[in-house]
Amino acid sequence: MRALGTLATWVSIALGACLEARGAGDVAVDLGPESDAVEAVEIAAETRPEPDSGTDTVRADSAIETEVAGSEVVSDSPAMRLHVIDVGQGDAVLVELPCGAMLIDAGGEQSDDSAAVGSFDSDVALEGYVRAFFARRADLHGTFDLVVLSHPHIDHTRGVTRLLAMAAAGEIVIRNVVTNGAEGSGSGVREQRALHDYADQHPGIGRWYVLERKTEATGLTNDVIDPFPAPAAGTCGDVDPTITALWGRVDNDSTLQTQWSDADLDNDNNHSVALRLDFGAASALFTGDLEEAAIAGLVARYGASGLLDVDVYKAGHHGSHNGTTAALVNAMSPALAVISAGPVSREGDWTAWSYGHPRWRAVRDLLGDNDSDGVSLYRPFAIDAQVATDYENGQGVFETKQIARAVYSTGWEGRAVVVTLHADGTLALPE
Ligand SMILES: [Zn+2]
Ligand SMILES: [Zn+2]
Repeated sequence: MRALGTLATWVSIALGACLEARGAGDVAVDLGPESDAVEAVEIAAETRPEPDSGTDTVRADSAIETEVAGSEVVSDSPAMRLHVIDVGQGDAVLVELPCGAMLIDAGGEQSDDSAAVGSFDSDVALEGYVRAFFARRADLHGTFDLVVLSHPHIDHTRGVTRLLAMAAAGEIVIRNVVTNGAEGSGSGVREQRALHDYADQHPGIGRWYVLERKTEATGLTNDVIDPFPAPAAGTCGDVDPTITALWGRVDNDSTLQTQWSDADLDNDNNHSVALRLDFGAASALFTGDLEEAAIAGLVARYGASGLLDVDVYKAGHHGSHNGTTAALVNAMSPALAVISAGPVSREGDWTAWSYGHPRWRAVRDLLGDNDSDGVSLYRPFAIDAQVATDYENGQGVFETKQIARAVYSTGWEGRAVVVTLHADGTLALPE
């Protein structure tokens, strides 16, 4: 993505005009280096608006609309769809493929129902989303080919109980389970253990515990981590989806045991399973709640090989100050990022408000305002969003920031963020 960053930027800005004119639909942004879009975009770049001129200028500038109309791509290439479900403060991402589905984390927020806080139950949100998904994709027969828990914190595991109840009732099927294997500490360890037990009690279910030292230089994959076989003709759009684990639990045999501080080792977040997903020319990275020590390890291990270079970044640790670094963003050169965090309007314990998510330090890295290049695409229209610029007295101090680039958050949008990545390398912005 790096070389095309600037070009893709202007495709995206122009896309706003296209969306306005046509209504949001199957408009896609071409990210491929061989794209016909490149020539048209280079013309458009000469007439680009000033950076601060806002979306009104883009909409009003008919020259840009005209020039870029030819660069608009409606792809019929098969797609991987990332559904970042709105589970409040927490993570649950449903990955939809032509030939199957997987779930990365099953967490979320449960807020008090007092009037001051507002009521939210991520279990209800997750179950409703999963039901609606399998109703639409009846061809999948309620099957999750894979359920991954990045680490045993409750904002990543809360929904396991509900999912296992659905499985017991025959409403869903779980074929494979991947976790970091931890069964000791963590606010969600009871749920992680329950998923381990479920897999152990059902011999047909594949189970794999990902250890950091086993991911080595090229990442780790096998038939459990990547249960999607190379497709026979006509299945999965003739694309072989591949899933690679790039990080996992740092166990006693890891060299990091001597290199890391006790605080880094004791932090469950640093033991998150990190995954890279590839679908044809499309790719995405999930880092769970990895914090700076682990992110530095990830970049040191994979940065040079290009294994971190992806189109979509599911922002780590809910956009926390310690979940994204400029070095990671530059290694990914992502087109787009999605943060999973709740709205700051729910002012209770264990909410985005109480954690100060997302934090300006991380969002700034994604916007390219700091030492990073940021994401390369732009939103069709800039939004004003709540971002924590500080943290005091057990809560984030939030300010309104303008978000022009393609950085999305479930908390800002107030709903699931769905990104469509086509196998030919084109990408559709969330609607
Ligand atoms: Zn978390
Ligand atoms: Zn965590």
